[in-house]
Amino acid sequence: MGREMAALGLEGPALLIAGKTVIGRLADIWKSSLDEAGIRHTVHRFGGECALAEIERVKAVARQCGARTIVGAGGGKVLDTARAAAADLGLPVVNCPTVASSDAPCSALSVIYTEEGVFQEYRFYRKNPDLVLVDTQVIAQAPPRLLVAGMGDALATWFEARTCVAGSVRNMRGGGSTAAALALAELCYRTLLADGAIALQAVSTQVVTPALERLVEANTLLSGLGFESSGLAAAHAVHNGLTAAHETHAFFHGEKVAFGLLVQLVLEGVPRATVDDVLGFSCDVGLPISLADIGLPDLPRDRLDPIARRATAPGETIHNEPFEVTPDMVADAILAADALGRAWRKHHESRPI
Ligand SMILES: [Zn+2]
Repeated sequence: MGREMAALGLEGPALLIAGKTVIGRLADIWKSSLDEAGIRHTVHRFGGECALAEIERVKAVARQCGARTIVGAGGGKVLDTARAAAADLGLPVVNCPTVASSDAPCSALSVIYTEEGVFQEYRFYRKNPDLVLVDTQVIAQAPPRLLVAGMGDALATWFEARTCVAGSVRNMRGGGSTAAALALAELCYRTLLADGAIALQAVSTQVVTPALERLVEANTLLSGLGFESSGLAAAHAVHNGLTAAHETHAFFHGEKVAFGLLVQLVLEGVPRATVDDVLGFSCDVGLPISLADIGLPDLPRDRLDPIARRATAPGETIHNEPFEVTPDMVADAILAADALGRAWRKHHESRPI
């Protein structure tokens, strides 16, 4: 980290933000690496949620120690908080994902939640992180479920990107997509299908293999560039809707996005073979394919409606779909996606191996 920061002219003092476990594992390495580069640093223990209060806490510590660079090390919420604080203070930011659980690390936006973990807003910044540093040795030691969650986030990228490009809507930066961005999004999907299951085995054994290297690139870089440069659509809006149900809070962003993608495919009425590819992949790696898989085994209409309304709120990316999407359509698509997933599982689990 010290060498890469120095090469980019990023100066100390650096304020490192990380959770307790990551601090325990990496504090000594940070110290030797940053000392070697002559970069002084302070470590701030992350409060647990990318919420406005935590961003303010980080800014206060940064001012106190005269930080000239902010470094976030950890999962998506830590990195989002680091980017938010750095943007407010006008400082450069380094992102070190310790898990490949979402495509947040390369982006120039943060997802802000309330202290209770309910989606609040997207916040956009002038520029992407100055440095994104991923150590696959660290990723390989993270719980496998986090890598799977990252695959869920990355799984939606190609489908949301192609919907946005087909409808000529603006990307997350307010511009048009490029052929390069769309190609990266498609490569992201192809990489998941080819390497996802084997990469998961590597992480389950805590080893680094070429498949894991490629998968981490897909989850982090390809998905990140794909979604930001081409755009999001229904899958992420349904995710945002699902956060309105507290039962889903025990599930990761990418896990809810994976179910949101099924809802998007139903809404768009894509060919059955496409749905089957996605269901097959999700089952292989253990991504949710039904409401029960994300903590909602029973979803009566009065609980479903607020989710559908949240997913179709003004400004939501679901309005990037090439047709008008109403809350009723989303509610129906959620139930239909759930039925598809349950039927798939029943069919495939009842077959002799
Ligand atoms: Zn996402």
